[in-house]
Amino acid sequence: MQKQTHSQDVVLIGGGHGHLELLRRWARQPVRGARLTLVSPQAQSGYSPMVPGMIAGHYAHADIHIDLPRLCRAAGARFVQACAHHIDPQAKRVSLLGQPDLSFDYLSLAVGASPCYRIPGSELAIPIKPIGQFYRYWEQLREQVYRKHQPLKLGIIGGGAGGCELAMALSSALEEPVYSGRVEIHLLQSGKKTPADYPLLARRLAAREMARLNVKHHPHWRVAEITARGVYSDEGQFLALDRALLCTESSAPPWLSQSGLAVDEAGFVQVDDYLRSCSHPHIFAVGDVASAPGDRPKSATESRNQGATLFENLCATLQTQRLQPYRPRRQWQRLLSCGGTHAIAAWGGIAAVGPALWRLKDYLDRRYINQFHQLPVPTSRVTESEFATASAPDQHGEKIPSAVD
Ligand SMILES: Cc1cc2nc3c(=O)[nH]c(=O)nc-3n(C[C@H](O)[C@H](O)[C@H](O)COP(=O)(O)OP(=O)(O)OC[C@H]3O[C@@H](n4cnc5c(N)ncnc54)[C@H](O)[C@@H]3O)c2cc1C
Repeated sequence: MQKQTHSQDVVLIGGGHGHLELLRRWARQPVRGARLTLVSPQAQSGYSPMVPGMIAGHYAHADIHIDLPRLCRAAGARFVQACAHHIDPQAKRVSLLGQPDLSFDYLSLAVGASPCYRIPGSELAIPIKPIGQFYRYWEQLREQVYRKHQPLKLGIIGGGAGGCELAMALSSALEEPVYSGRVEIHLLQSGKKTPADYPLLARRLAAREMARLNVKHHPHWRVAEITARGVYSDEGQFLALDRALLCTESSAPPWLSQSGLAVDEAGFVQVDDYLRSCSHPHIFAVGDVASAPGDRPKSATESRNQGATLFENLCATLQTQRLQPYRPRRQWQRLLSCGGTHAIAAWGGIAAVGPALWRLKDYLDRRYINQFHQLPVPTSRVTESEFATASAPDQHGEKIPSAVD
């Protein structure tokens, strides 16, 4: 096979939705002469809109996860399984835990955000992310309740759309008679509205669905401390719990500001209209980790849309062409799963609930993820053995042999 040469190195840190979208597009339309490398601690990336459906038992783990080494093979990119922990933007190097540093010409970040650990005792709670880890924990917990006939009082801290969907999914999964009377699901939130950014009618429908599923909703219940026996509110009330799950507002990874990138007051990477770091234009950032102009709610949909612009702008940068500004698309419809086979749809101030909307959400989510599952992997681009070399870095070299060299 004739070897290809590359002149520009692009390193993608994190298997977030924006990078998945970029790699999917790159697979169809690669830029010659550029080499992509994806760095991710996990070999699979979960599609978060389908997570509540997986908890509720509608999807298997594999249905909602994208195999990152396979996606990289389809895109002719290298895959390095590692966690990044420092960037030197001047020297254009990124440091990885337990792996050699990588050099880059351009870098992109889609590392998401993690639940906020500001509440004292947070280390005792179970974070919802990484999704794969949470899922393993959930399987063990359910098995324990099922086999040992143990009672279970679960508290979900955080009443955003994710917390609300999670509470209904857990309740629905534990609805069977075998668990009945032994399981209690509590949703705790500091504000009153849940999900906060949905219109009034959708919130009323969500309250009705939660009541139907026996989710105990605690508005104005700001958790001040998490202990092994339960949680305390800032007004001194105590709620006994066997386990607390963290679905609170997210926080930024601290290593990005420590690397010298311009960040906002919450530590998220400040990007310009073209999704480039405001301090280092050869570094891009998309998804939850990016702080883009305009006050857009962070979501998987937003991350995906940014991924499409990232692809265009990365190609334009590599080919020294004009970049295009990111134009957030108006989200005319939002869908919230309600555990079983019900979903709420909100269009502006109008909302409705029912099984037909769940089928619509299921169809849209499956259609999106199937584009990854069905992506062809051309054998001429990267063979299995070449890829294996690429994903196993040598001990000394700073640059790993390329899959496409
Ligand atoms: C229960 C739940 C339901 C949700 N439902 C919806 C929904 O229906 N619709 C919607 O639009 N949004 C939904 N969201 C919100 C959505 O999950 C996030 O907004 C979205 O995941 C953000 O995507 P991202 O690409 O920024 O990062 P993520 O999806 O969080 O991915 C980040 C990736 O980066 C990797 N990473 C992290 N640190 C490093 C590092 N140092 N080095 C290398 N890699 C790293 C992680 O392992 C991870 O794979 C939901 C969230 C939850 C919790």
